[in-house]
Amino acid sequence: MCPECHSVEHEVVELAGTGTVYSYAILHHPQHPAFSYPVVAVLVDLDEGIRVVSNLVGVEPPEVRIGAPVRVMFQATADGLTVPVFEPAGPT
Ligand SMILES: [Zn+2]
Repeated sequence: MCPECHSVEHEVVELAGTGTVYSYAILHHPQHPAFSYPVVAVLVDLDEGIRVVSNLVGVEPPEVRIGAPVRVMFQATADGLTVPVFEPAGPT
């Protein structure tokens, strides 16, 4: 949704899949069997200026840093779908 006018109109564009951690939260509860805990829920500012909600993987929760560079990867889900998550793209 557009943060300025709340429009839900959209278009498809290709993105580099790189960005930086804007903020994050370490989730311990409530737990769902589809996830390994703790889950690092992250807000990523993509290089193109879009902010997305995702999970950060491949990093221990104490090592997560605001401003850290990340890149997208695609993770299979239990029901055969694929979702975008992020992994560190440099020193944390
Ligand atoms: Zn707008």
